[in-house]
Amino acid sequence: MDKIWGQAREELQKIVGADSFATWIEPLRLSGVNEGTAVILCPTRFLSDWVSRHYSDDILKVLDRIEGPVHRISFETRSQTSRQVAAANSEPKRPAPRAAATATATATATDDELTAPLDQRFTFDNFVVGKPNELAHAAARRVAEGGPVTFNPLFLYGGVGLGKTHLMHAMAREIQARQPEAKVLYLSAEQFMYRFVQALRDRTVMDFKELFRTVSVLMVDDVQFIAGKDSTQEEFFHTFNTLVDQGKQIIISADRAPGEIKDMEERIKSRLQCGLVVDLHPTDYELRLGILQSKTDTFRTQYPGLQLAPGVLEFLAHRITSNVRVLEGALQRLFAFASLMGREITLDMTQECLADILRANDRKVSIEEIQRKVAEHYNIRLSDMIGPKRVRTVARPRQIAMYLAKQMTSRSLPEIGRRFGGRDHTTIMHGVRKIEELRSADRSLAEDIDLLRRLLEA
Ligand code: ADP
Ligand code: MG
Repeated sequence: MDKIWGQAREELQKIVGADSFATWIEPLRLSGVNEGTAVILCPTRFLSDWVSRHYSDDILKVLDRIEGPVHRISFETRSQTSRQVAAANSEPKRPAPRAAATATATATATDDELTAPLDQRFTFDNFVVGKPNELAHAAARRVAEGGPVTFNPLFLYGGVGLGKTHLMHAMAREIQARQPEAKVLYLSAEQFMYRFVQALRDRTVMDFKELFRTVSVLMVDDVQFIAGKDSTQEEFFHTFNTLVDQGKQIIISADRAPGEIKDMEERIKSRLQCGLVVDLHPTDYELRLGILQSKTDTFRTQYPGLQLAPGVLEFLAHRITSNVRVLEGALQRLFAFASLMGREITLDMTQECLADILRANDRKVSIEEIQRKVAEHYNIRLSDMIGPKRVRTVARPRQIAMYLAKQMTSRSLPEIGRRFGGRDHTTIMHGVRKIEELRSADRSLAEDIDLLRRLLEA
């Protein structure tokens, strides 16, 4: 069994990555395979629940390949096994009282088991700060530095993949480093609910309450998850109040502002709002480029010797605007691909390798919309976008529209030229270059362009 498991572990590590492997798979043991059912031993129930929900397909696939055929996995916790054994041994004498057995199991649950694992990469050092996230970052830093509790709760919100979880982990780590004796509890709202429901089922709600109410810092990620889940909300509300009353720090994240969470009780919403509420804005071009540069530095150590052509990162920062997670994934794929092919990362390779991501990120903005918005913004007539006038007050906005058309649509230069009154593609190219040049020198122009882009993306 050990040999089979050894081999399975190697494959699983490749599939789930080193960090998740160390946290979730490493502690498991394969105890046997019987008629297509593999029995996996887990040290704790929390672990076994988590693994069975997140990794059972991977484990099944790998074991089926190595040991085959395996159709099912049964997870057993050691405490459960020993309890079963103990119960079996003592049965002839007297049946073990069930409630007592469960209570012991919960009492021995450690904080390590309760708090979710922190991602090693999510540190303040690795967090790239730009305009869209500087406020959230500053607030997170301040709270993580400890001192008197000034913002309670700290409520961070923003769209998917903008760095909420990253900041939460960075804070948890920092607080723990500065105050080793503090009991920092970080978990997702989903895990909170899950533990709560489990406690209800096992009739250990008092223990559950007790555990949560003894923490020094409570961090709950993605709190919108408990909206509409009434008893969980209720419990969360009580936990929240007790901790705030004791002056304990609470840090919450969500995908939207407290007031906008549907199916969340009013009293909870208003409690959530009474500290500091800060949001992470959608990324802008500069932040995306900064993040790409920082990730590239990391990837370079993973893939030494890879060449990256100039302009590739800028291209990605322009074209992938959805969120940082997608941006990161794209870069990762690009480096892996280039390293397999043993080739330099060029613009062509990027377009080929990331075609699907780039297509998905293609904003459905039309050249007409761009012309209209730009004309509106600079107070010129729409017809002047297409017309021949060369005065600066008209020509410059027209060039900005050309630039945005090139950046925001997948139209070719000749196609763009046709929509600007049948201009030649070299004229469009000249316009685009001119704006690129001015953009880096002229701050107010750069801001105008960002604003227009945001308006068009909205
Ligand atoms: P959220 O929780 O808001 O959905 P995450 O915190 O999971 O987003 O971020 C998604 C990915 O993007 C993570 O890998 C994270 O490290 C990365 N990321 C997000 N923002 C930044 C940033 N400002 N600097 C560096 N990496 C970032
Ligand atoms: Mg998150």
